[in-house]
Amino acid sequence: MREPKEKTSEIEKTEKPSNFIRNIIDDDLKSGKYDGRVVTRFPPEPNGYLHIGHAKSICLNFGIASDYSGVYHLRFDDTNPIKEEDEYIKAIIKDVRWLGFDWGENQFFASDYFDQLFEYAVKLIKKGKAYVDSLSANEIRAYRGTLKEPGKESPYRNRSVEENLDLFERMKAGGFKNGEMVLRAKIDMTSPNLNMRDPAMYRIINAIHHRTGDMWHIYPMYDFAHGQSDSIEKITHSICTLEFEDHRPLYNWFLDELEIYHPTQIEFARLNLTYTVMSKRKLLRLVSENQVSGWDDPRMPTLSGLRRRGYTAQAIRNFADKIGVAKSDSTVDIALLEHTLRDDLNQKARRVMAVLNPLKVVITNYPEEQTEELDAVNNPEDESMGTRKIPFSKIIYIEKTDFEEDPPPKYFRLAPGREVRLKHAYYISCIEVIKDEKTAEILEIHCTYDPKTRGGWSDDGRKVKGTLHWVSARHAINGEVRLYDHLFNKENPDDGDNFTNNLNPDSLESIKNCKLEPSLAESTVENRFQFMRLGYFCLDSVDSGKDNLVFNRTVGLRDTWARIQRSQAKKG
Ligand code: ATP
Ligand code: MG
Repeated sequence: MREPKEKTSEIEKTEKPSNFIRNIIDDDLKSGKYDGRVVTRFPPEPNGYLHIGHAKSICLNFGIASDYSGVYHLRFDDTNPIKEEDEYIKAIIKDVRWLGFDWGENQFFASDYFDQLFEYAVKLIKKGKAYVDSLSANEIRAYRGTLKEPGKESPYRNRSVEENLDLFERMKAGGFKNGEMVLRAKIDMTSPNLNMRDPAMYRIINAIHHRTGDMWHIYPMYDFAHGQSDSIEKITHSICTLEFEDHRPLYNWFLDELEIYHPTQIEFARLNLTYTVMSKRKLLRLVSENQVSGWDDPRMPTLSGLRRRGYTAQAIRNFADKIGVAKSDSTVDIALLEHTLRDDLNQKARRVMAVLNPLKVVITNYPEEQTEELDAVNNPEDESMGTRKIPFSKIIYIEKTDFEEDPPPKYFRLAPGREVRLKHAYYISCIEVIKDEKTAEILEIHCTYDPKTRGGWSDDGRKVKGTLHWVSARHAINGEVRLYDHLFNKENPDDGDNFTNNLNPDSLESIKNCKLEPSLAESTVENRFQFMRLGYFCLDSVDSGKDNLVFNRTVGLRDTWARIQRSQAKKG
């Protein structure tokens, strides 16, 4: 079987439009700020699987670095031993590779820097810029104040350097229980920026870390680890989402006090999608509450879910380019993602025929034992994808919905006395409807075919209005087909912890015993198909087996995004 050809992206070859991030980099290159270097990073916390929002960040960080012939790092921010697992690290690596990026040797872990970070903390203690606090977590919260009220200084704030060093060493050695002490930066309890009110730098967690084992009893807070890790790796442009804007003064404070290398932090708006929740915490809840079959459930916005659903990496990269980067938060219509996907699949997918809800059609004037091999074009968009043979015989299946005994107006499919085209085959006319005597259910329909219309064309100029897909009964293979709808039934499902109330109960429909054209028996998970008139499909990489074909509908054919664009153009 032919593999669909990976077309190289047009977008990748053309100049990418400028944006505020590129402008900053251009300026830095001009001024020689980083000696012409461009080094970016993607810093996931390995506490869940990557989602399409992360893909935006990866495409941005890694895309920019490669466009500027720079370097990009993948760094795991593994500072919380309780929530992090090796499974997530493996999944993240697989997903970023799949997206099409190769970071070579540049894979790092924040835990690589635990010794260095500890030294940094000691340096701040010695400078009188950090202290060990014995207040409880609740007390610290209460002392912190609010946006309207300044905070209060901890009674432990003015411990001597010696006492702080001693306590901090004992924290490290495992001398205390979780939460008994924290190391805090000594900044300003009255700062209007809450992040500057003596934030925690180290906390006590007596747990096993996936890489450092039981070596440590204290772990750096994200805010203490993150900026310093960027600095250690000599990142030039530290691109992150908007919620870190308020943390920037703190990151700068640490770098200044430590007198170490300064990356430039640039914030951009995170991706939000309609009908989707994006936070890892919420996705984890869906998994652990069995609302979905796993992180890679084809309805999940995770990269593993999208991949299993049939998304191509190219489509996701194109989407990331299309949405661009902005400085203020907004929500992207999921129809745009699906539109981008269709664009890509349209070029890659082999057109095939499958009947999901079969209705038997007997062609009465067709010879009993005869089988014909008809030619079918694999993809009208791409001649190089060639043609294949599809078998035709006396009994075929069509979709139940393609026949109406009593057709409503504008119904152009099959009906008694009416002629339609079978795609790639013949014109057929319905002459009889056979029903169950008791239930009146339609059992089969009888048709005649016109042998002069082979290939689906008539040379006497006779026109038919409907073209149906079909499968030869004798040659059909059985398979299961899974149709998906949005996982949530609300455009913005993310109302706090009640978001699971907005789950769409009809997000998965499984149809067994579908009739598939025989060429589909040799499909592989890499293949992309358009089941004619039904949408784009691919094999399910988890549940499909040799004798049990399972196809996922990646996306339907109806392009709601194109419709939105057209109606906006009309209005405009
Ligand atoms: P979540 O909020 O989904 O749990 P996170 O920000 O906690 O995600 P991290 O592992 O810390 O997850 O994210 C790694 C990087 O991905 C960060 O730099 C973060 O800014 C970026 N990122 C996370 N979510 C999005 C998003 N929706 N759009 C763009 N970038 C994102
Ligand atoms: Mg985070």
